[in-house]
Amino acid sequence: MSSTLSVRWTIAPAIAPRPLINCNRCGGVRPYRCSEKFRVNANGKRIDVWLIYRCVDCDNSWNRAILERCNRRDIEPSLIAALESNDPALARRFAFDSKALRNRIGRIEEFPDVAVGKELLHGRPECAVALSLELRLDAATSLRLDRLLAGELGISRSKLQVWQDRRLLTVDPDSAGAWRKPVRDRATIRIDLAGEADRDVIVGAPCG
Ligand SMILES: [Zn+2]
Repeated sequence: MSSTLSVRWTIAPAIAPRPLINCNRCGGVRPYRCSEKFRVNANGKRIDVWLIYRCVDCDNSWNRAILERCNRRDIEPSLIAALESNDPALARRFAFDSKALRNRIGRIEEFPDVAVGKELLHGRPECAVALSLELRLDAATSLRLDRLLAGELGISRSKLQVWQDRRLLTVDPDSAGAWRKPVRDRATIRIDLAGEADRDVIVGAPCG
């Protein structure tokens, strides 16, 4: 029997990043929330698409360009259909792309709140001496990896640091500072719990 408890965490960010815009109706900088609605303007063979944001205070709109003066023939018909029908998954993909949003507007507000779905892949908590966590992101998040683990496993970040210093905890792929950076899709975390006094408590948490 495997002594590793393997669990997949599917992480769904809750609130899309908000651009900070000088609202001409409010007369000051305000966050704008994503409406998750597209505006599609097809003019002959040219097409423009925007994602619409609204001021949280006055509802004034700001259009974020998604496609600008593109040739309709260069775009997949299924993509045009998804844009025209305000496909929620597509809107979410653009809405949570904080890098593209920041490039467009400069200043944004980000929210680390996530919902975590947990699925046991194999192993049994009562036999586990190691934990393997596969992370899947359904959209980009600003939540840091150490905060995710501390929150979901119910342990302190200083304990995580001790595990990492002793190489009991590893991140794959491992990049400099991955630990204090936003959670990456398809990362795998491995924790060796063989010498851990609170092993029972910790292996109970990942599936809970
Ligand atoms: Zn406003």
